[in-house]
Amino acid sequence: MLLYAGNSLARYGFGQGHPFGPDRYQVFWNAICQQGLEQRCEIAAPVDGCAEQVLLFHTPDYLSRVKALSVEGTGMLDPDTPVFPGIYQAALTVVGSVIDAVDRLVTDTHSSAFIPIAGLHHARRDGSAGFCVFNDCGIAVEHLRKRHRVRRIAYVDIDAHHGDGLFYAFEGDPEVTVVDLHEDGRYLYPGTGHAFETGSGAAAGTKLNIPLPPGATDAVFFQCWEHARSFVAQSDPEFVILQCGADSIAGDPITSLALSEQAHFRAARDLAEIVRNGCARGLLALGGGGYNRDNIARGWSAVVRALIEAETPEG
Ligand SMILES: [Zn+2]
Repeated sequence: MLLYAGNSLARYGFGQGHPFGPDRYQVFWNAICQQGLEQRCEIAAPVDGCAEQVLLFHTPDYLSRVKALSVEGTGMLDPDTPVFPGIYQAALTVVGSVIDAVDRLVTDTHSSAFIPIAGLHHARRDGSAGFCVFNDCGIAVEHLRKRHRVRRIAYVDIDAHHGDGLFYAFEGDPEVTVVDLHEDGRYLYPGTGHAFETGSGAAAGTKLNIPLPPGATDAVFFQCWEHARSFVAQSDPEFVILQCGADSIAGDPITSLALSEQAHFRAARDLAEIVRNGCARGLLALGGGGYNRDNIARGWSAVVRALIEAETPEG
């Protein structure tokens, strides 16, 4: 199991006191070290990305806009996403680390990786949204296609918010299976991810949106998860991506789901099993959202623990 760790990932944050502050990384890393998990996996340093990688998913106009605003250092990319000096370089580090993880999973002996801070699932091809500058999830899909000729990709998202940026980019793509459990869009940003959205055209039936009611607990999640798990397994994926946002855990300041980290543990464990038993070449877990610091610590470290245990022979 590969765990990406290093302070350059913490640069992707919108200032102290912001829900998506730079302290999110340190909270995660402290939890990992407190549990001794860093000694049970291989630590990988974050990697700087480049414009070419961003352009796998995003438009040249949008890339130029982020670069220019990053130099100015002020303003807003969209109503939710403020600019800070160096935001372009900070966002590139998330992208570069994700590309590095994909390359290592496809070619190395590791079967899983975790990258905190990544999983910026709201960004669209031509713009930012909801704290997300570059959509590393979508970039990973395009990179798997173009560089590694991986066709069938499963993207699973248990963040409280619907992963709209990823979903609509691949809504018509029959080879990208999307499973997204989230708080019902009638009550939470971005308002999408209805159960009837199952993919368009040739991709009809390849997407599974499961809106959860506000206050949904593990019991509700586990009931839905069984269907989600078998949906992924039946797609026989060659690569699996998990966006495991910790904002679906009870007590998040901006969402209303009430899961525990057991949901995150189970999702990671079951997807690792699908990778092990099928033809998939890797499982890439991306931290995603999470604005209650204790929940980031518990949710993300539960995923890391599940991935470590899945790779460690029993006994
Ligand atoms: Zn979220």
